[in-house]
Amino acid sequence: MSRLCIHSVTTKPWSTEVCIQQFSRAGAGGITLWRYNLEGRDPADVGRQARDAGLDIVSLCRGGFFPAASGNDRQKAIDDNRLCIEQAHALGAPLIVLVCGAVPGQYLVESRKQIADGIAAVLPDAEAAGVRLAIEPLHPMYADDRSAVNTMRQAHEICDALGSPAHLGIAADVYHVWWDPELQSQIQRAGDTKRLFAFHICDWKTPTTDFLNDRGLMGEGCIPIREISDWVDATGFTGHREVEIFSTQYWAMDQSEWLARITEAYKGVYGSADTP
Ligand code: ZN
Repeated sequence: MSRLCIHSVTTKPWSTEVCIQQFSRAGAGGITLWRYNLEGRDPADVGRQARDAGLDIVSLCRGGFFPAASGNDRQKAIDDNRLCIEQAHALGAPLIVLVCGAVPGQYLVESRKQIADGIAAVLPDAEAAGVRLAIEPLHPMYADDRSAVNTMRQAHEICDALGSPAHLGIAADVYHVWWDPELQSQIQRAGDTKRLFAFHICDWKTPTTDFLNDRGLMGEGCIPIREISDWVDATGFTGHREVEIFSTQYWAMDQSEWLARITEAYKGVYGSADTP
């Protein structure tokens, strides 16, 4: 399963070291690490451990959260994103996923401007470090406090405005964009502009009991994952399919059993079509 990547947060109860060991043993090709995985550790050492276990480090989650009510807080966000770029560089992660942020009560248009300004401020650092940045549009239910960027189209608009095609692109997460009537054409556009940097998978459960921590395993919800995945591959994308599942329910399970269910569900979606 060389294209299977698992986000460490998917098995959140496990330590960084156990995630690396177990994902490798389960046959995954890659891992996306979260910044909490680096706490109290040397990022270069974590990177070495993952590569020694045969895993590609696909990305570091996450940067972003640029909008804020005061200039001082916006500068703090820029400083934190610079730190994130340094960590990704030391880790050997080629990509940072940006959850762009929003401020409750602040107009979304203003938040989007602050997001573009924040990304513009850190792009030279990303370029110098050889680390790419991917804007991840979030489902509009998060427009109040997590992201003012809610569609692929809006992500493209920021990319268009800022340029730097080699270092700024988009992370498409099926959980956030599956409902978008423009999805297929916007994925195609991301392929045409070489902006499709990452692809995240999970499923949408009905009913969803928690808007953050009740994401589903592939196949147990209503997202046409394979169809969207085929649109992604049709652009020439050959990167990883990243399983990213926040779930209080699954975090409460035995994590080895949970990981076995993930690999089974991945095979259920892709069968033998793991390689392009
Ligand atoms: Zn995601």
